[in-house]
Amino acid sequence: MDVEQRIDQFRNMAEADPENELGHFSLGKAYVDAERFAEAEGSLRRVLELNDGQSKAYALLGRVLIGLDRRDEAVAVLTGGFEVAADRGDVMPRDEMGSLLKGLGADVPELKKAALEQTATVGADGFRCTRCGRPHGKLDGPPFKGALGEKIGSRICGDCWDEWIRMGTKVINELGLPLADPRAQAVYDEHLAEFLQLDD
Ligand SMILES: [Zn+2]
Repeated sequence: MDVEQRIDQFRNMAEADPENELGHFSLGKAYVDAERFAEAEGSLRRVLELNDGQSKAYALLGRVLIGLDRRDEAVAVLTGGFEVAADRGDVMPRDEMGSLLKGLGADVPELKKAALEQTATVGADGFRCTRCGRPHGKLDGPPFKGALGEKIGSRICGDCWDEWIRMGTKVINELGLPLADPRAQAVYDEHLAEFLQLDD
């Protein structure tokens, strides 16, 4: 599925359910992938209106503002987003925003002691969610059979999985996917891998 198709699908999703941040977030991310930064800005700001704790949206919005050559606004968004991510324990968006701030020659907020400890820890079982960076919340096992299920079981935390369940339901409804059809299943899996960032 190319990026323009993804944009169309997510735009429909966001319009059908304008109060749901996930559709706006996915649309914003697809706009970023297409380097349509002005449109991405609108979607990501909408996400943050709906949920100002969505740390990944600050990181993306920071990138967008950098892409639009609006450095001072980027610094403001990334600084605020860094604090939100640090408070929530969203390690990966936090570190991403820290390095973007450094790249802009701006100050990176100091981490509180608790957050520093978080950085040092991987969970007792050696687990760290590859999507959000939290060192806990590993699933009890693969959520379904097959290679994709195994990958999710070993890499993704319960919170991220729950987020996908909500999003996946929207994907099925909005796209009208009959999952008994292998082609529909492939589209669903593609959305899943994109959402959970399993491709790297
Ligand atoms: Zn996670």
